[in-house]
Amino acid sequence: MKIHEFQAKAILSKYGVPVPRGRSTANAADATAIQQELGGGVVVVKAQIHAGGRGKGGGVKVAKTQQEAVDYANKILGMQLVTIQTGPAGQKVQRLLIEEGLQISRELYLGIVLDRSTQMPVVMVSSEGGMEIEQVAHDTPEKIFKAFVHPAIGLQPFQARKLAFALGLTGDSVGKAVKMMMSLYAAFIGTDASMLEINPLIVTAAGDLLALDAKMTFDDNALYRHLDIKELRDTAEEDPLEVEASKYSLNYIKLDGTIGCMVNGAGLAMATMDIIKLAGGEPANFLDVGGGANAEQIKNAFRILMSDKAVKAVLINIFGGILRCDVLAAGVIAAVKDLGVPVPIVIRMEGTNVELGKQMLKESGLNFSTADTMSEAAAKVVALGK
Ligand code: ADP
Ligand code: MG
Repeated sequence: MKIHEFQAKAILSKYGVPVPRGRSTANAADATAIQQELGGGVVVVKAQIHAGGRGKGGGVKVAKTQQEAVDYANKILGMQLVTIQTGPAGQKVQRLLIEEGLQISRELYLGIVLDRSTQMPVVMVSSEGGMEIEQVAHDTPEKIFKAFVHPAIGLQPFQARKLAFALGLTGDSVGKAVKMMMSLYAAFIGTDASMLEINPLIVTAAGDLLALDAKMTFDDNALYRHLDIKELRDTAEEDPLEVEASKYSLNYIKLDGTIGCMVNGAGLAMATMDIIKLAGGEPANFLDVGGGANAEQIKNAFRILMSDKAVKAVLINIFGGILRCDVLAAGVIAAVKDLGVPVPIVIRMEGTNVELGKQMLKESGLNFSTADTMSEAAAKVVALGK
């Protein structure tokens, strides 16, 4: 789950991470009051969307006067903000963060993620803050410094010091950086975050360090122990079909192709997407209905699949284990009768009660294509979708 910058900053602040003073609002008319609260000087008006690259897209503006703050607030709120992370359609800005404008002397980068190969959290820093870290990693990997953290003992001060020196920090800034890194690591662990990114982490003209931007993503499987964080979910920022799918515990990710897929099990879903590509098609989605889906979930999955107008044909590929083939067949038949699915459907199933399932499909009088192997199913669905 993702959250907004202003929410991440509030969490980090609780862990003792210095952040700029500021306040968020969904109302542009508040700009005057917030600018006053912050001392009436320079403020920065920042679009709050679940995507980075806002500055380049026109979603972060420095306002030198109160009038400018109001003008930018009016301009940014409600705009369709397009950044490199939103895709061409962009994301509508429904909230702003207005914060004090700071005198920046250096923009650094800090990120914490789980490194799967070492199975440890890794703290990464770079002197190239404000830029996209993927670009830095690609062009100048020597400018990224890492500390792998043993989860049992946590980030050690000597590791943080090493990173601070690698960033070229000196004097008081080293101690401030160490304290900040320890707090950031504590926030990462304490909230079960899967990603924490401060880009940029700034050194001000006065030598203070602050998190000027903050991005946090949380492990969905751990949200049950962070009900306060769970409440921060903003479904307006998510794909509507994905929000709908999550209501029925379906793992659905919308993609750009035309072949809808309904599969049980993430591994089989990945393999199905691969074989559709191999057959010359493009999957319209990833959909894992789960090992123990019932007829009701199958129906909802179908409805969600079909509300994607790009879908020209559907491939159902099920291994009947806990979800028996006859239950699947019943679900599909009910869904098609109910929803009047207007596109060709290819079904390939295998496993428990497969004969009964096939018989039910045949006797339903509905127009399904069936296939015995995955490659046959993929070839059929791609041909039918053309
Ligand atoms: P994004 O990463 O989405 O573009 P950031 O929050 O990183 O958004 O802001 C982009 C740039 O705007 C920063 O790199 C920084 O140069 C500037 N900026 C952001 N907030 C402030 C602030 N409070 N004071 C001064 N400059 C800021
Ligand atoms: Mg940023």
